Amino acid sequence: MQLYQKSAHELRDLLLHKEVSSKDIVKAYLDRIKTVDEKVQAYVTLCEEGALKQAEEVDAKRVAGEELGALAGIPMALKDNICTEGVKTTCASKMLHNFVPPYSATVAKKLSKAGTILLGKLNMDEFAMGSSTENSYVQKTKNPWNLERVPGGSSGGSAAAVAADEAVFTLGSDTGGSIRQPAHCCGVVGMKPTYGAVSRFGLVAFASSLDQIGPLTKDVEDMALVMNEIIGHDPYDSTSAPVGYPDYTKDLYRGVKGMKVALPQEYFGKGINPDVQAIVMAAAKKLESMGAILEEVSLPMTQYALPAYYLISSAEASSNLARYDGVKYGLRAEQYRDLLDLYKQTRDEGFGTEVKRRIMLGTYALSSGYYDAYYKKAQQVRTLIKNEFENVFGTYDLILTPTAPTTAFKIGEKTDNPLEMYMHDICTVPINIAGLPALSMPGGFDQTGLPVGVQFVAKALGEEKILQAAFALEQELQIKSQRPLL
Ligand code: GLN
Repeated sequence: MQLYQKSAHELRDLLLHKEVSSKDIVKAYLDRIKTVDEKVQAYVTLCEEGALKQAEEVDAKRVAGEELGALAGIPMALKDNICTEGVKTTCASKMLHNFVPPYSATVAKKLSKAGTILLGKLNMDEFAMGSSTENSYVQKTKNPWNLERVPGGSSGGSAAAVAADEAVFTLGSDTGGSIRQPAHCCGVVGMKPTYGAVSRFGLVAFASSLDQIGPLTKDVEDMALVMNEIIGHDPYDSTSAPVGYPDYTKDLYRGVKGMKVALPQEYFGKGINPDVQAIVMAAAKKLESMGAILEEVSLPMTQYALPAYYLISSAEASSNLARYDGVKYGLRAEQYRDLLDLYKQTRDEGFGTEVKRRIMLGTYALSSGYYDAYYKKAQQVRTLIKNEFENVFGTYDLILTPTAPTTAFKIGEKTDNPLEMYMHDICTVPINIAGLPALSMPGGFDQTGLPVGVQFVAKALGEEKILQAAFALEQELQIKSQRPLL
């Protein structure tokens, strides 16, 4: 087994026993990136020098016997909408192609405090709007399992990098599924924590009532390790929850005996590919054989989740993206007549088609006369969806569903049909609407060899249960050693 194939917990043990140095690991990863990223195109910025320097510092501290963070010496990478001081953060948009943040996001600071090493920044759909990473201004990331397929989106770079062993773990952001859906497409573990559990300070805002940062990892134990480091209250994020958080690694081995797991019928109906259904049902059977209690439930409001999501998220996006005006930072058009024209030209040149579509949709939904019919209605639907979930979690510990209706689709297959693209989020957006935690993990492969994810959902702050069930299922499935042949 190569160094770059190992998980964070395996590497941590090797580092602790001084069998490898952090510099060895970082070098192995930089070589790996040089070999495969030409094909995968996950990275938009590589921090080669900085990574080697950080590794040397960690190694020196270890030799000197200084106290080190829990993930000291482990190389990782961040989605390019997470601000990193002194390192370009572009959101894969022409609008921010030259933006170098003067500060780092709280999660980036926390990971640096934990001793991790930043390898670089990862490709994404422009401003995190999309499900295939094809909306990037920079490049199209490929699915490591099949280079003609998309890696999912919008955190496609973050998922592909982990799947292709180009980082031990990565962070992404999830507004309507952007961590879990690419995790499903690329066969890795991806988690969207409870809204408010991970600070969003320094995350470039898309839809503020839905956005959440989370990890993508090679296995569930790594997920618990990384969650431990990034979770927690942050006074810099007013939506951050001031509560205590458990050590997620502590009871990881507890198993699923007696756990009550709900299967909502709406997530297994029309439009869900039969291979996907079969793999999720097989996972359900496995859980049952390990002692979980499985029952079918109904979440009838699910059908309204997608329209409500696209109204709310676009409305918030239209407001959040108003700041890109060519005045303060980012792109500024070269030719303009007056101030208003500067705004117009800059926004016309700086934003891509999908971003413009969302801004127009959102502006329309918020305009007076339409506000009640669209935005307000969507918010009312949001409450109904939340209540429905709460009701189920009155009786059940977890909900189990597919992560997405199909496996990774072909590059270019849905670019001319935004509605079809939006449909790929059908299993993930309801969870963001309700602010709940959810995880996607590999459950198996379809007949063409593409990975299929299964999704666990819990009540707010129920991450621990999700990780316990996912860990138990992962042990039972024994498929995590299967890697794409690049
Ligand atoms: N694919 C969804 C969208 O385009 C979700 C994006 C996300 O979670 N950032 O809005």
